[in-house]
Amino acid sequence: MQNKKILISGASVAGPALALWLNRYGFEVTLVERAPGIREGGYAIDFRGPAMQVLEQMDIIDEIKKFETRAGKITIVDKNNQKLASMPDGFTSGELEILRGDLANVFYEATKNNTEYLFDDSIAALQEDSNGVTVSFSSGRTRHFDLVVGADGLHSNVRALTFGSESLFMHHLGIYFAIFSTPNFMNLQHMAGLYYGSLGKRVGFFSAREDTEARASFYFASPQLNYNYRDISQQKEIIREHFKTESWQVPQLLELMDSATDFYFDSVSQIRMDRWFKGRVVLLGDAGYCASPMSGMGTSMAVIGAYILAGELKTANGDHRTAFSSYETQMRPLVTACQKLAEGVEWFVPQTKFKLWMSQQIWKILPHTPWKNMMIEMPTKAANTIRPKSYA
Ligand SMILES: Cc1cc2nc3c(=O)[nH]c(=O)nc-3n(C[C@H](O)[C@H](O)[C@H](O)COP(=O)(O)OP(=O)(O)OC[C@H]3O[C@@H](n4cnc5c(N)ncnc54)[C@H](O)[C@@H]3O)c2cc1C
Repeated sequence: MQNKKILISGASVAGPALALWLNRYGFEVTLVERAPGIREGGYAIDFRGPAMQVLEQMDIIDEIKKFETRAGKITIVDKNNQKLASMPDGFTSGELEILRGDLANVFYEATKNNTEYLFDDSIAALQEDSNGVTVSFSSGRTRHFDLVVGADGLHSNVRALTFGSESLFMHHLGIYFAIFSTPNFMNLQHMAGLYYGSLGKRVGFFSAREDTEARASFYFASPQLNYNYRDISQQKEIIREHFKTESWQVPQLLELMDSATDFYFDSVSQIRMDRWFKGRVVLLGDAGYCASPMSGMGTSMAVIGAYILAGELKTANGDHRTAFSSYETQMRPLVTACQKLAEGVEWFVPQTKFKLWMSQQIWKILPHTPWKNMMIEMPTKAANTIRPKSYA
């Protein structure tokens, strides 16, 4: 086996999923994560089709099921909390649903004994030679690896260092998104959710963890903003500024945002690249092909991508040229289908009065039409674009 020493950047979903497979195939894995530990936060993500088969083969499905959730009824309300429309339980659910933070922790627990985790650090420079890649870290240490994988998300550091500026690949879909935990002060039951919308804005409140807590989400339409990806207080200020004049439960949610420790903010954007590898460096998950939260498929793509990338490296006995190229060929149709799912995102945060009214009418009638299962069927169809091969 060649190229046994592999460095992965990013310990959320894609990175640890890849580490699990690489460990199993006999590679030595180091995982560097900028945060001081596994990051909590995010709402429920779901799996369907091929991603379910991959999870089963990872032998962690029982552990994931311990944290399984099931999205409840979603009600669209006006500023007086009066119902405008509602969607039944499981309206958007896949076959298995779990909070993103819980999933990241399950992956971490399953890999921590066989993987070297370096928290609170980041890659500062990559220097490739014929034998591998010399990696300088922000902490000052320097190490040599055979291959480097960028699984460090939408604002991937590995992508910037290897392929060039983020602006070359990022396609902003016109919306920003924030999510954080709050107490379930509205006493919603059975993971129910509420959505309130005004022109160019939407706010959600969903109960979580057996209704003992909740997640607040904020969406607003905006051209691309210039802000610091690491400055959480600045990001909270952006949300406060955009929503300060809103009514419904927004003032209370903005107050709760101040004390939220798992606040997550980002643009709803896609990463579109013609190539996901260069030399000994390859991208995985959102770093290479983010489809945006609006696709509902980011986590599935990360899990399937990790399975294929590791499987191809195993099959090619570590030959990265063959493995990276085959990984890309197999993943491309799935990525194209998933990125298409985010089209029409403007209907989620309408920016004209007509579109806002129209979207409410659609929500009202949708559960009573033949298209009532489209929120499940569309991602399922995209998910089934791929039939991952067996690497057993
Ligand atoms: C805290 C959090 C909350 C999220 N909430 C939601 C949500 O509610 N809905 C949704 O659809 N998607 C959410 N996402 C995105 C979702 O996790 C991904 O779309 C999907 O799971 C693919 O995962 P990924 O591992 O490729 O990327 P990500 O989940 O984005 O993970 C990237 C990881 O890389 C780390 N990282 C970034 N830069 C560096 C660096 N320079 N060096 C080392 N590590 C670095 C990040 O801290 C993060 O842990 C969230 C992501 C995070 C990190």
